[in-house]
Amino acid sequence: MPQIITNAIVLRRADYRDNDRMITLFSPTLGRIDALCRGCRRQKSPLMAASELFCAGEYVLYTSRERVTVVSCQVTDTYYGLRADYEKLSHGMYALELCAAAVQPDQENERLFLLLLRSLAHLCYGDVPPRRVTAVFLMGFVSLLGFRPQVARCARCAEPVLPSRAPEGAPAASFDPETGGVICPACRAGETCRLSESDVLYMQAIMKTGLESLKSPGECSDELFEALRKMAEARVDMPVRSGKLLV
Ligand SMILES: [Zn+2]
Repeated sequence: MPQIITNAIVLRRADYRDNDRMITLFSPTLGRIDALCRGCRRQKSPLMAASELFCAGEYVLYTSRERVTVVSCQVTDTYYGLRADYEKLSHGMYALELCAAAVQPDQENERLFLLLLRSLAHLCYGDVPPRRVTAVFLMGFVSLLGFRPQVARCARCAEPVLPSRAPEGAPAASFDPETGGVICPACRAGETCRLSESDVLYMQAIMKTGLESLKSPGECSDELFEALRKMAEARVDMPVRSGKLLV
């Protein structure tokens, strides 16, 4: 089948020759696809929007001798509002880069595709702080890669982490980003990510309701956000450069 029609979103782009661009698409059914977008940098090219980061739509692709070319795209959303807000943009870029590092060719992952699109919609059109959206995205991201964070019980002794057994004012638990597990104070052994009781409750709420948790008030602490970033970045094989730009 030389012609493929698939929903997809642009994760990466790189200019190529005078007017062309190579784009990396994420398709829910076909995984990662590297495709050539011919002439898309010419003024008035019908493929101009289709070759931009964040562009989501129904792509028509033509394959011949291992090369994939974009024929056309029915755009559904470009998440244009992200470009007007540096903070939102940096979080959106981070989500794209994590997906580009994790998604493989010919690998179906419809749930990750939906999580990415819904997270971008919350970033673009919602008014909750971007790091709250990214926290939900990161926990869903590692879960869908097969590394569901263990947040209800201690990853070592399996006792419930809450109610806290820590003395008042002390961290309620630690977090091991390598395994994605919360560790109770009794089992703690040098983990540097300390979590308060509200951090643990916050993670538990995210694991229960995902993006729905954004409807309730809450705050993602700096410590928790850093812990979740380390957890997600430990699951992909390459450095995630845009993480450094996060605000
Ligand atoms: Zn324990």
